Amino acid sequence: MSNHLKYEKKNIWNNVDQTEHEKIMNFAENYKRFLNNAKTERETVNTTVSMLSDAGFKDLNKIENQLKAGDKVFAVIQNKSLVAMTIGEENLTEGFNLVGAHVDSPRIDLKPHPVAEIEQFSLLKTHYYGGIKKYHWLAVPLALHGVVMRSDGFLIQVVIGEDPSDPVFTIADLLPHLAKDQMDKKMSKVFTGEDLRPLLSSIPSNEQNEEKVKTYVLELLYEKYGIIEEDLVSAELELVPAWMARDVGLDRSMIGAYGQDDRICAYTGLKAIMDIENPLKTSVLLLADKEEIGSVGNTGMDSDLLENVMSELIYLYSGNDSNLALRRALANSSALSADVNAALNPNFSDVVEADNAARLGNGICITKYTGSGGKKGANDSHAEFLGFIRNIYNSNNVIWQSGELGKVDQGGGGTIAYMLAEYGMNVIDCGISLLGMHSPMEVSSKADIYMAYKGYYSFLNHKY
Ligand code: MN
Ligand code: MN
Repeated sequence: MSNHLKYEKKNIWNNVDQTEHEKIMNFAENYKRFLNNAKTERETVNTTVSMLSDAGFKDLNKIENQLKAGDKVFAVIQNKSLVAMTIGEENLTEGFNLVGAHVDSPRIDLKPHPVAEIEQFSLLKTHYYGGIKKYHWLAVPLALHGVVMRSDGFLIQVVIGEDPSDPVFTIADLLPHLAKDQMDKKMSKVFTGEDLRPLLSSIPSNEQNEEKVKTYVLELLYEKYGIIEEDLVSAELELVPAWMARDVGLDRSMIGAYGQDDRICAYTGLKAIMDIENPLKTSVLLLADKEEIGSVGNTGMDSDLLENVMSELIYLYSGNDSNLALRRALANSSALSADVNAALNPNFSDVVEADNAARLGNGICITKYTGSGGKKGANDSHAEFLGFIRNIYNSNNVIWQSGELGKVDQGGGGTIAYMLAEYGMNVIDCGISLLGMHSPMEVSSKADIYMAYKGYYSFLNHKY
């Protein structure tokens, strides 16, 4: 059989020259810096806005003149989601090219009444966000990020635990010596959600008072931030792992960090749109919030946020405010749902089917369908569209692979793909594969990260 008939996955490291090898390594340094500044959805949007502004993008809400081809704009929704656009030469009703990622990650949120005194400690009461394995969050250093709206209307920004001199928080685990009963339990029953309570403090106040430790920590909160207990009701405070993004492996080929699902696709998509000049079709980067809890709310993909922003864009570009123009623009568009997939984990290889599993370092991952069971809930992408994307990648030397989310009936999941598809546009899942997805230390390949950037760029920039 002649060799060209057979398909084989390519390991990127064996298929790039020295120049591209260096580009891969340099790209990863900037990505790690981005991750360290973007540990929550708000921080990701803030960091993205400053990068876009430096690259000449203007706030859509402040545009007064008519927009024209080549113009670069962005819109922020509630400080938690964002749409960036570079206007193309073609009329917008011909459709745009969209890369859509999400900026929220699984984490532990504080409850509205979070401070409790129990057995001479103050503890934080929490409610986890997104799909977590609860045991991951015990015995690790946690940092507190977020905002508190005080009664005077001032929004306090909180980041505690990132500077090496900061204190951190931690959920103390049970010692193995006394864990006999615990070890006999099913893993899903060992920790309840209510058990995820980090240590907040242990010094009691000198006042004659019922809850001396809680009283003292509330005094500290007031001294440092002017926050009273009621202010914590109007707050969004998120506990995330307190560590920085690190190189993984003696060869430094991988990155270990919290929140790579899905800031890895957010960052590579962002770098791609920042490098696009004068595209044929308008380039769009969508960074959505709330994907991990079902894309609900007015910052999630299930809202009208994309329609609202595109309506404004079409109006500022052509003066057209008709619903038909918006519908045509949406339906004629093409989208990559840029989200992560599971890479084959050498310690757990039995949950995937080896021929169809994504592998770390084998390229940007095209996922034809997600879903679970009999493809339930999947946006099963059309052969024609997958062929179109494959051709773009092949003609731009983008090393890509096909992946599926686990073997048949093993489990499953979804992305924002099906919500984009509701507009009539062609959509395919296309992102980066990770080890340890949804854990505090997700692992990616530096080679895949660079290849995803190249893939998103060539998709946004294609001229036919
Ligand atoms: Mn994701
Ligand atoms: Mn996820």
